[in-house]
Amino acid sequence: MPLVVQKFGGTSVADPEKILAAARKAIRAQQAGNQVVVVVSAMGHNTDLLIELAAQVNPNPQDREMDMLLSTGEQVSVALMAMAVDSLGAKAVSMTGAQMGIQTDSTFTKARIRTISPERINKLLADGNIVIAAGFQGIDQDFNITTLGRGGSDTTAVALAAVLHADACEIHTDVDGVYTTDPRQLPEARHMCRISYDEMLELASLGAGVMHNRSIEFAKKYRVPIHVRSSFSDTRGTLICDASESPSAAVCGAAMAKNEARITVQGVPDRPGTSFGIFKLLADEKITVDMIVQNVGEKDRADISFTVPKDELSRAKRTIEQACQSVGASGFTYDEGVSKISVVGIGMAKQTGVAQQMFRAIADAGINIQMITTSEIKISVLVSLANAQACLRAVHASFSLQQQPLDAAVWEELPARTNTQADLQKLVADLQAADMEKLSLSDISLADDQARITLAGVPDNPGLAADVFDAVAAAGVFVDMIVQSYDGFEGETSISLTIPRKQYQACLQAMNALANKFNFRSVHGSEQISKLSVSGIGLRSHTSVAIGMFEVLAAAGINVEMVNTSELRVNVVVASHHGVQALKCLQGRFGPTRTA
Ligand code: ADP
Ligand code: ASP
Ligand code: MG
Repeated sequence: MPLVVQKFGGTSVADPEKILAAARKAIRAQQAGNQVVVVVSAMGHNTDLLIELAAQVNPNPQDREMDMLLSTGEQVSVALMAMAVDSLGAKAVSMTGAQMGIQTDSTFTKARIRTISPERINKLLADGNIVIAAGFQGIDQDFNITTLGRGGSDTTAVALAAVLHADACEIHTDVDGVYTTDPRQLPEARHMCRISYDEMLELASLGAGVMHNRSIEFAKKYRVPIHVRSSFSDTRGTLICDASESPSAAVCGAAMAKNEARITVQGVPDRPGTSFGIFKLLADEKITVDMIVQNVGEKDRADISFTVPKDELSRAKRTIEQACQSVGASGFTYDEGVSKISVVGIGMAKQTGVAQQMFRAIADAGINIQMITTSEIKISVLVSLANAQACLRAVHASFSLQQQPLDAAVWEELPARTNTQADLQKLVADLQAADMEKLSLSDISLADDQARITLAGVPDNPGLAADVFDAVAAAGVFVDMIVQSYDGFEGETSISLTIPRKQYQACLQAMNALANKFNFRSVHGSEQISKLSVSGIGLRSHTSVAIGMFEVLAAAGINVEMVNTSELRVNVVVASHHGVQALKCLQGRFGPTRTA
């Protein structure tokens, strides 16, 4: 019999009427001939209320007790949902994470799923029950209750769909699908009928709160197609699957992460191992770091800037104080009034001028860019919080995201699961190996045909990044990595880019011309750099990859010149003469591989 997982988020179970409406949907799915598992979140804003309550008792509550508290929100919902189904004449049994055998590691408040034992659920389904599963929670091996992180019910739903080999995984929420950006921020955002796993994963981890990013890791790994749709109607939503909406569009969506903070560690001794020292301490504290930019300063000292979620700032500050002492940095600054705006699209990997277009749109809106980082399928900029929405709007309009691309896919019914027998065996093997959310790496490679150009002492004015990349594009240069560092005190910044080695001279010439016009302090670079990449799934939340790369390279005395991270890849740039040795170090650390 087909099996459907239906997840209802907080707003979809916010009151008794909504719970009854969700129960009716589940019963309809059962009557249509499916076995049905319903995953529910805490009612309305209950999780937020519980967090506020905890803060009134203790400003720094223990993570274990937070999970004990927060898991009660979902426990209320499952019981009420089972009662609602019963009152409408069907059979239902509610289950907590522990009862479903959702075993996690012990990282309280951000636990990862290790195993799920589907036997009890399968038995209840076979007896004709609708199984009502509590989202967001599990249990560790010492029987402590754990939670998966905010928004984690999506991950419960997709993980259950994977292990139960569900035919459909429906995420019922308060929007009727995935939009080109948050429709609450920009009313002109457009509904998409399809988006690829890679794009959704990247958008989710860059601020598109419609899906929990780790749920997309699961979906991609276990090939679970997801249908995001409205809980309040039966209209078609958005399919998250292998393919993008449009084969030609460079950008499919934009995201804003409003609750970001920037930290700049100043005067870091510029020798191999210091970045590792700093980021290792942050990783040990499970602090999520993004937009890492290193800026080589004067007298062999560097500034390192990065962003953290605002609610992790106070922990990050404590950690950085320690880090400054242990690596001998002179101090740090931070800013809570910043926002990260990103564009995402698989198509940008093959097209030139995407960054230029984004920076020009931001410049035309009169907004200053504080930092830039890119990866193969995303470009992120940091701007002041006050400018965030205007920046998002400018970028969204610049890529005409409000208009459907001419070659956009049309809606297709949820495709049949494409898992082969081999996939299924792998799934079972993963479960037996007892680590569903374990890191999965696919490739380690070395690109040895690259060059780097760095523009130092660039006046920190709106529009300069746009001028630089206009000039780069006019010279016909294909840019790969871009980083712009933060340097708020001197009123200047530095921009580094990697390009194909054969375009080095042309790019250098264009940049020197620009430097004369705008009075940059210097233009320098290296024709001899190598880019090393480690690819996989979920590399932002699996911080061990970036940290491990820093660690082995530092141990070998190899200096990391540039770094960028995405969900799919971590790239580092080193001097070419270190390339092969660096590749060997990474292979030693992460396993066998090939070169590119
Ligand atoms: P639930 O409680 O159902 O899990 P969430 O609030 O977590 O719901 O997610 C739904 C919300 O996500 C929407 O109301 C919308 O404001 C927000 N959102 C952010 N980015 C997007 C996007 N790209 N497409 C659709 N919704 C988005
Ligand atoms: N109730 C949890 C939260 O609010 C989990 C979820 O809704 O997905 O974050
Ligand atoms: Mg959610």
